[in-house]
Amino acid sequence: MRAVLAPEALEAIVDVLRRRDWRVIAPTVRDKAIVYGEIASATELPVGWKDVQGPGSYKLERRDDEARFGYAVGPQSWKRELLAPSVRLLQIKRTNGGLEPVKDAAETKRTAFFGVRPCEVAAIKIQDRVLIGGKYADEDYLQRRENSFVIAVNCGEPAANCFCASMGTGPKVEDGYDLVLTEITGGTHHFVAEAGTDEGAELLAELPQQPAADADLTAAQTVTDAAREKMGITLDRSDVHDLLLANLEHPRYDDVASRCLACTNCTLACPTCFCTAVDDANDLSGEADDRLRSWDSCFTLQYSEMHGGGTRKETKSRYRQWLTHKLSTWHDQFDTLGCVGCGRCITWCPVGIDIREEVAAIRATQEAKS
Ligand code: SF4
Ligand code: SF4
Repeated sequence: MRAVLAPEALEAIVDVLRRRDWRVIAPTVRDKAIVYGEIASATELPVGWKDVQGPGSYKLERRDDEARFGYAVGPQSWKRELLAPSVRLLQIKRTNGGLEPVKDAAETKRTAFFGVRPCEVAAIKIQDRVLIGGKYADEDYLQRRENSFVIAVNCGEPAANCFCASMGTGPKVEDGYDLVLTEITGGTHHFVAEAGTDEGAELLAELPQQPAADADLTAAQTVTDAAREKMGITLDRSDVHDLLLANLEHPRYDDVASRCLACTNCTLACPTCFCTAVDDANDLSGEADDRLRSWDSCFTLQYSEMHGGGTRKETKSRYRQWLTHKLSTWHDQFDTLGCVGCGRCITWCPVGIDIREEVAAIRATQEAKS
């Protein structure tokens, strides 16, 4: 089912979902960045904003139109909603007779993710594979995922650090959504909408709309074709798995370690990184003890701690672990790469380390040898 929507129909989307008592999480402007938060109206979308990104830099600027989705991705990802930053797994309470375990009721409210980029849909699919696609499912993630409804938005304005086209994850979404919109700003501002599931079709049927003609579908295709063309820089993934494993002692790792602060930003901003740690926290009264699962990062010394201390003592080994996991061993574990080309790790690295450049530098010496 396909249709043409006027910009005002976005308000109808929010209205319909909120009438169903769903949470609507969408991009909005806060603290000079585009972040994801609960909205009550489509007017809270970043209307007329674009992001200007570079290695280690990000700023918002006004556009000369009223585009609702005229930017790429911000510091957050939908990982915040599905693999929450901190989850209480268990609480133990002291009772008269001893100790009693208390389990939090799982969040059951349906949540619509409104404005999910194609690379982010791909990232959700990767986390699905990691967290619920194996023998043991992460219960909290599964519950949140089953309650999610995905409204994707194809990309027309890639940022300078985007390279989804070379990772096969964008700028047009292929599957994994309930409803997808393509925003067309030249001429009459409108959206081409297409349902991906029966639930998406039900929502679309409730919206004010016009039928989509062939010309509308062609215009939508032109938007994503142009975005693909604009994405100048790429990461060659054809041989990256073997390339990195064949160069574990490459001198480039010393070079990158001299720049890397081991600050963990790249892993926290990354929509596919899933490292977590489990800690116990005592109530000061001694009456309760919480077991919390929180985001962690392979860039910390503690993350590789075993008896006798951390096994990745140097920044070099931590960067190598991250890069080879993302682009080599992740594939061995999960039959997919761990990178969707969103560019967040480049933009939000305080020293502007660029995953594409690190791979290219290793490839350059390999090619020079052969
Ligand atoms: S490794 Fe970097 S570019 Fe790839 S998905 Fe993670 S944040 Fe995005
Ligand atoms: S690569 Fe950049 S963001 Fe990642 S840990 Fe090093 S300095 Fe921090």
